Amino acid sequence: MIDAEIKNNLDNIFDKVRAAAEKSGRTAEDIKVIAVTKTVEVDRIKNVYEYGLRDMGENRVQELTDKYDKLPEDCKWHLIGHLQTNKVKYIIDKVAMIHSVDSVELAKEINLRAEKHGRIIDILLQVNVSGEETKFGISPDEVYDFIGKISQMKNLCLKGLMTIAPFTHDPQEIRPVFKNLYNIYIDIKHKRIDNVNMDYLSMGMSNDFEVAIEEGANVVRIGTSIFGKREYTQK
Ligand SMILES: *Cc1c(COP(=O)(O)O)cnc(C)c1O
Repeated sequence: MIDAEIKNNLDNIFDKVRAAAEKSGRTAEDIKVIAVTKTVEVDRIKNVYEYGLRDMGENRVQELTDKYDKLPEDCKWHLIGHLQTNKVKYIIDKVAMIHSVDSVELAKEINLRAEKHGRIIDILLQVNVSGEETKFGISPDEVYDFIGKISQMKNLCLKGLMTIAPFTHDPQEIRPVFKNLYNIYIDIKHKRIDNVNMDYLSMGMSNDFEVAIEEGANVVRIGTSIFGKREYTQK
């Protein structure tokens, strides 16, 4: 039996996703909802699986590898938090996509490990649009230089961009952050660079996913609105 509260939360989220997608000329099917499962126990995660979600997001390597073994094989695991180069080896055969690539050094390590496993890894570039010092991600000015370097790496496939917007009580305030990244995303898409596919724009969390979708996001990462408040917070 699926937990009634989680089911209700997901129903509400998908209503909002649909409404926001329609505002931007799309449908709910155009939007990928990733269930952010950090700090959530396996038994509770099983509810979102039962509901039909397959994309799970974790921001810590250890938690991802633990849960990977305990949930059905058809789950797709997304690493969404800062990744240290020395930990790439633990997740390289487990991740569907790494959202948080924020240095050339990290990209190189992923490429190297992917080659050893005979895989091509989908990655997103994390962009720190607002320039907050506490956030990881490259600055918008560095994006093209970065892409030039990444496009040479055979075992990586750049699939899009990701950002974490600053927390605000009124998500309308950060609309410009989302608009800004959307414009960069479209600009890169139009340049048709080899090995670079702007398929995904990963922006929007519990607090701001509706605004993010209205501004063009097609991947949202939602934890709290599905599972409730976490016991402790993680960066
Ligand atoms: C925790 C986290 C989320 C989900 O945040 P909620 O506010 O719980 O929805 C999304 N993205 C990243 C990178 C996170 O670390």
